[in-house]
Amino acid sequence: MIEFWDTSITTQWGIYLLPLLSFILGIYITRRRFKKQKKQLRFSNDYFQGLNYLLNDEQDKALNIFIKLVETDWETIDTSLALGAIFRRKGEIDKAIKLHQNLLARPSLPQEYKGMVLLSLAKDYLQAGWLDRAENLFNEIVENEAFTHEAQECLMSIYEKEQDWEKAINIARRFQSKGNITLAATTAHYYCELSQKIHSKNDLKEAEALAIQALNADKNCVRASILLADFAITRGRFQKAIRFLRQVEIQNEKLLPLALDKLVLCYRNTSNLNKALSYLRSLEQKHKNIFLTPVLTSLIEEIFSKEDALQYLIDSVHETPSLFTLNTLLQLQDSDTSQQKTLLPTVIEAITEKQPDYQCINCGYSANTHVWSCPSCHHWSSLIPQSL
Ligand SMILES: [Zn+2]
Repeated sequence: MIEFWDTSITTQWGIYLLPLLSFILGIYITRRRFKKQKKQLRFSNDYFQGLNYLLNDEQDKALNIFIKLVETDWETIDTSLALGAIFRRKGEIDKAIKLHQNLLARPSLPQEYKGMVLLSLAKDYLQAGWLDRAENLFNEIVENEAFTHEAQECLMSIYEKEQDWEKAINIARRFQSKGNITLAATTAHYYCELSQKIHSKNDLKEAEALAIQALNADKNCVRASILLADFAITRGRFQKAIRFLRQVEIQNEKLLPLALDKLVLCYRNTSNLNKALSYLRSLEQKHKNIFLTPVLTSLIEEIFSKEDALQYLIDSVHETPSLFTLNTLLQLQDSDTSQQKTLLPTVIEAITEKQPDYQCINCGYSANTHVWSCPSCHHWSSLIPQSL
């Protein structure tokens, strides 16, 4: 009986209370939503004000706004980092560093954004030339998969600047083994650099071992083959040197000119100039490389006669007309005192001298001496011999 009455009372109260509670809850939700919208509206106004400052090149005012915004909504951190990048690009490194250090110092910085801020700060240090600090930070974030590639590239550029080839090899190999095969060519150059450094300390055996490791890293490393040939020549092992030099044709035929003089030297020392001639002729037929012409001319003149060399050159000029070949021909012809005969070679020489000997296929940088790393874009093996 009592139970019946209790249930009945509860049900009756429920009938009146439920709509009331729903009404109160409705008001509460609406007020909250309104407050949130108001907050978002204020946020948007501030945000656009900040952008406006940016567009008007008033970065300092924009910075004040974005720094305040980031505290209330960390999702706006991208804008602060973009601002930091602008400071860095403009050379205002101190401002960029201050901004990134400020962000890092905040206890409320979510863990997921920490890597992005550290990466930006590391780039600031790199540009400021504080290589040790930059190296420490990049090493801290390189393990974070989201930043591995960028941090690794920056670390490699630091070690290249410091010429610390052991560290450069370590960092390149560590992430190469995780499937980054594009690093192979660069790693091979690091081994070559280290090999040359060790060779300068008269440790020929270790230098050879390092050059072989360069070839293991990248079987198409022309530099490693030429280095190994140089070491073999030093040991008087000319046949071995020839084997390395003949690899260049397979590795990169555009870089053949770098190996030609050494090839002739090795064949000469093994009393096999005829073999040199037939090998270079086969290369000429296959690759039409213009730089073979003067080397072949000298060989034909030495083995046969000057007339044969002249005939070969005349044929070459007809077959592949170029100022380079024509100049080789004119130099071989008997000099004449008449102005007509000396004018042409002088003009051609002047024109060909203006042409840089090497040009970077990546950025167009030109140079008159060969280097393995482009001084402009820092690509490896990108300087190719040029001729008109
Ligand atoms: Zn370049």
